[in-house]
Amino acid sequence: MAEKRAGREQDSFLGAEVEENLRAAFDALPNEVRVALFTEKGQNDVLNKAARDLLGSFAKISKKIVLSEFDLKSEEARKQNVTSAPTLVFDPQRYSIRYLGVPYGEEGRTLVGMILLIGFRTGNMNEQSLKVMKRMGSGRELKVFVSPTCPYCPEQAINGVRAAIERPDIVSLEIIDIQSNQETANRYSAFSVPQTFANDILIAQGAQPEELFAASLEKLEQQTVFIPETDAEIVETDVVIVGGGPAGLAAGIYSVRSGLRTAVIERGALGGQVATTPVVENYPGFARVPGKTLVDILVSHALEYVQIFQGEEVVEVKPGERIEVRTGRRKYIARALVLATGAIYKKLDVPGEMNFMGRGVSYCATCDGPLFKNRKVIVVGGGNSAVTEALHLHHIGVQTVLVHRRNGLRAQEHLAKNIFSNNIEVLWDTEVVEIKGKEKVSEVVLRNNRTGEVYPFPVQGVFVAIGYEPSVDLARALGVELTPEGFIGHDSHHRTNVPGVYSAGDVEGGYKQIVTAMGQGTEAALSVFEDLAHPYWTSEGGVAQMNKSR
Ligand code: NAP
Repeated sequence: MAEKRAGREQDSFLGAEVEENLRAAFDALPNEVRVALFTEKGQNDVLNKAARDLLGSFAKISKKIVLSEFDLKSEEARKQNVTSAPTLVFDPQRYSIRYLGVPYGEEGRTLVGMILLIGFRTGNMNEQSLKVMKRMGSGRELKVFVSPTCPYCPEQAINGVRAAIERPDIVSLEIIDIQSNQETANRYSAFSVPQTFANDILIAQGAQPEELFAASLEKLEQQTVFIPETDAEIVETDVVIVGGGPAGLAAGIYSVRSGLRTAVIERGALGGQVATTPVVENYPGFARVPGKTLVDILVSHALEYVQIFQGEEVVEVKPGERIEVRTGRRKYIARALVLATGAIYKKLDVPGEMNFMGRGVSYCATCDGPLFKNRKVIVVGGGNSAVTEALHLHHIGVQTVLVHRRNGLRAQEHLAKNIFSNNIEVLWDTEVVEIKGKEKVSEVVLRNNRTGEVYPFPVQGVFVAIGYEPSVDLARALGVELTPEGFIGHDSHHRTNVPGVYSAGDVEGGYKQIVTAMGQGTEAALSVFEDLAHPYWTSEGGVAQMNKSR
């Protein structure tokens, strides 16, 4: 057996500040976290080294992390039933939690999160999810497919860790990096991340709020609605902002700086669409910045001011002088509500699209692009998103063809020029009629809308980037008026027709730029501040006045 204590002698590559923060967090853990790394010489040497270096750095930071390394041919590997390298096995005496691959990139968040939860020996689930976990009667073998470039993945992976810690008697977890485990990903037809299977049944595509994850795990079927069973904790505040994209976060900063108690609620990943934008080139002050990096900077800044309730989905809102906002976890009572709910990607609405979602059809090139390296894909659309995604895919080695229904791109000239200088093939005047395949996408049927020709086009992936639709469900539930195009109607102060309810960002329509969304969030927060000091809806003719200015 080839056990050796590893890591302490290696140099760290995490950087002094990160190391300092991690040391403080790890040293405070009440329990050691034992991690066994399984490697095999000659198999995935580069990844084995990356895993050894990463975990070694962690073990060097704090004595609380105890790392051992074993060969894949060792007795320990046989005992633990580990069959691929690198694999990380966490605290096997207590839990069944393993990571297949290297948790680098975005997955660093998963690694840190799981170490903290294991070190505290708690899944730290909220009351509602715990109830579901406690009543679960039979075994669940969980598999969460992730990739290092996916900003949504850590949320879902951590959901799995929480479940495996809360119910170690019945839940086992494998977090599987699809880039280093392509065969397994193929077997499960997992071509988008995160994707979650329990007992080999697909229970979730995408990241879920914790309660929905627990409910999906219990029912072995993806759940989209969670109704809390009891009255949860109540948070009294001045302002609730729904949405943690650029508009919501900017509104949060300005609201707190105006002296208002503020809560930002976000059901999924922070940063909205920016988090999955490969590169942003028009955010003033940054010539070129990955969308996720920009989001990280923005989130750190926002967290200096405002409390963010992430992973909570708003399930009910009631207008009034005291606006009630209910999530799966708690109830908020506020004097003002800012809807910065953004927009969700538009679907092509062609046969095969829903069927092959996650099995070749994707809406996130940053997340899923690496899976299609050396494979042929089409990107559909002619706007900034389609062009940015086509360029990203091309640059990471995906054979990319842009399919656009017109004979000219709508994207900014600077971006469009890059399509041609990179020799990316464009099929003009072309529409997707159908997406076909068996287990996964193998071809699309295209139609040239000028000649009428319909023909099959073999591809392994379809990236849809045809724009966004505003998320207006909450607005509708509140009785907020929408514009004929379906966006939230508002005046120049971002007031809606419902007193105390404001809007900001992509849900308002308009230019849909990061800077404009932030500007709208800022304006909305400042209007809230002014209106709470001098409520326009109590002054004579206030609402009529507002309606006039819309
Ligand atoms: P967009 O600008 O609305 O463009 C959507 C594209 O998809 C258009 O070319 C449209 O074709 C096509 N399309 C729409 N429905 C379709 C369908 N059913 N079948 C085939 N094609 C269809 O959307 P976007 O590119 O996602 O951008 C959204 C907003 O975000 C824009 O305001 C954009 O400026 C902004 N954005 C900015 C950046 C940046 O500044 N770097 C990056 C990404 C997004 P038609 O041309 O025929 O309408």
